[in-house]
Parts: sequence; structure tokens; C-alpha cells
Amino acid sequence: MKTRRLPWLVTAPLVWLALFPAWIWLRRHERRILRVGRPLDFDECADARSAGVLQPETIRVAVTSPLPTPGAALLRGLAQVTRFPLDPPIGMALGYGIYLDESAAESRATLVHECVHVAQFESLGGRLTFLHRYLHECLRESYWTSPMEAEANRIAAEVCSRPA
Ligand SMILES: [Zn+2]
Repeated sequence: MKTRRLPWLVTAPLVWLALFPAWIWLRRHERRILRVGRPLDFDECADARSAGVLQPETIRVAVTSPLPTPGAALLRGLAQVTRFPLDPPIGMALGYGIYLDESAAESRATLVHECVHVAQFESLGGRLTFLHRYLHECLRESYWTSPMEAEANRIAAEVCSRPA
């Protein structure tokens, strides 16, 4: 895919503009998932550990369709700039909360992919740092070529190549 890199001078202020509303949104939805979601079962916990998650027992999964997306006009505007996919995703990791679309409720690959994002947030030391890096990568590269997404896809493929 052809990507056009945006200059840092353009992306840095955009990241800072988006960071706070995105963080508020993440916390709100994470709290909701932690309240209503289910814990991982034994095999899923093993997969999450293989994906690098330190506290898989803290994760909760909520299945819902369509997945909520940050609806603020600001974020929608950013999506245009970043070529972030506007179609609702089938999975989303928000701290220790994972949303799965009904179509992906049984998808091991999607769950492991989201677990890698949980591991990334754990290793980066928090939600805000994770979001900052994630937004920055999606703005600088694109959603499809961001290193964090590439890592999630690579590790999910590795983990899922082993029997559950
Ligand atoms: Zn992802």
C-alpha cells in the first residue's frame, strides 16, 4: 500500500489534540468492559501470556456489534488525515478491556491480536503512553503499516500457528 508520510510538524500537534479526548473515551469504555465483560478462559489466558500479557486474568472481553468508535468530530477528522479505517473494527483493546464484534466473537486470531495491544500497553507503562505512541504511529505511517499493528499481526499469527 502506498503511504505518504506526514511531517512531524503536522503530526505532533494532531496527536496532542487527539490524545486527551481519546484517553477519556478509552477509560470510559474500558470501565464499561471491565464491568460487563467475561474473563478469559484457560486456553485464552495461555494465548494472552504467549502474546506477552503480564496480567491476563485482569482482561475482560465484551462482545458487541457494531463496535463503538470514538465519535467525536475531532477524531473523525483525524481519521481522514490518517487514513485510519472508518469501518468499525472487529476488535479493539482499551486498557484491559477488549471489545470483539459478534462476527469475531469466536476468532482466536482477533482475540490474540487484541491481547498483543494489551501487552503493548503494559510494557509501555500505561494507557496514555500507549495511546500517544499508537496515535503517533497511525498518523506518521498509517493504520495498516504502523509498527504496533504489524507487531500485533505478527505475534497473533505466531501464537495461532500453535494448537490451542
Ligand atoms: Zn490492532
